Amino acid sequence: MKKIQMVDLKSQYNKIKSEVDVQITDVLENTAYINGPQVHKFQKNLENYLDVKHVIPCANGTDALQIAMMGLGLEQGDEIITADFTFAATVEVIALLKLTPVLVDVEPDTFNIDIEAMENAITPKTKAIIPVHLFGQCANMDAIMEIAKKHNLFVIEDTAQAIGADYTFANGTTQKAGTIGNVGATSFFPSKNLGCYGDGGAIFTNDDELAHTIRGIVNHGMYVRYHHDVIGVNSRLDSIQAGILDVKLKYLDDYSNARKASAKKYNKAFENQPNIITPIESDFSTHVFHQYTLKVKNTDRDALVKHLNENDIPCGVYYPIPLHKQKAYVDSRYNEVNFTVTNQLVKEVISLPMHTELEDDQIEFITQTIINFVNK
Ligand SMILES: *Cc1c(COP(=O)(O)O)cnc(C)c1O
Repeated sequence: MKKIQMVDLKSQYNKIKSEVDVQITDVLENTAYINGPQVHKFQKNLENYLDVKHVIPCANGTDALQIAMMGLGLEQGDEIITADFTFAATVEVIALLKLTPVLVDVEPDTFNIDIEAMENAITPKTKAIIPVHLFGQCANMDAIMEIAKKHNLFVIEDTAQAIGADYTFANGTTQKAGTIGNVGATSFFPSKNLGCYGDGGAIFTNDDELAHTIRGIVNHGMYVRYHHDVIGVNSRLDSIQAGILDVKLKYLDDYSNARKASAKKYNKAFENQPNIITPIESDFSTHVFHQYTLKVKNTDRDALVKHLNENDIPCGVYYPIPLHKQKAYVDSRYNEVNFTVTNQLVKEVISLPMHTELEDDQIEFITQTIINFVNK
């Protein structure tokens, strides 16, 4: 059996090495390291893939979120609602911009933002909602868009973990994750579903004016060279990363299918295990399994992690501490009774190796090791 890895980027690279290496060499030879033709080409191809009017590449997913919020003109004191159970980047940039993060609980089965909790958190100061499409599956965008419309709020989709997922509305129309709200933000961090070989990110929008504003913000607030109309940042996707991403974009659907197939095998193996709760797939969204995350019941989760590691099976706990309990983000307004789901999830979740190169004997070994431990 091949050594099990949480994410096997080497085997994936080996399969596309000849194509990727040509892209990298091209950039090295033509020396347009920044804003080379690869960046424009990838941007256009991603716009086509997502069926969105504007993709604005940037340096990483955290920047993408920050720039999206800057582009919407949010101001100090504005309240931004997001999920308590996510990677810290989401809340970090809200706080960094001196906006007020309002964390709310998530659903116990999909791990995505709880719609009722979200609606209850709306005040006259609320300006935006940031649903995070956690682990590869979209939040309930029908409900989120309806509530946003009713309360006149912006919707910023954090789709760092769900690029390529399809959301189907109640009326039957389908859109790609990240293209539904006013603006979407994604990450091309190497381990993400569409990952480069360094840092990268992008912002999506169908709003022409917002796209124009954001294109200036990513480039020092310049719309005309050396005229700085707004305070911007320097956030670029470099040409080498764009070249790599353009190759990998062609395979994104294959990659998603490989992840889905591995998830199915995991599900099957855990089928009759009452203490192992496999991921739920909602009716309205496909799941592209950025993570394959179990909930374990009547089991010491941390002991399971240790046992797996001792058997050379890597695993992850995403996330071990709810954001509302993180030192940087504690707020006296929060009340523990409003976070019962997150407080429970952090004790039960465990994410298994998930990538595009998982092999059957690896899945067999991982699932058997877990089943033996849980039933011992
Ligand atoms: C990875 C991630 C980010 C940040 O992306 P970076 O490219 O690492 O800055 C933001 N939000 C979520 C949900 C993520 O998983």
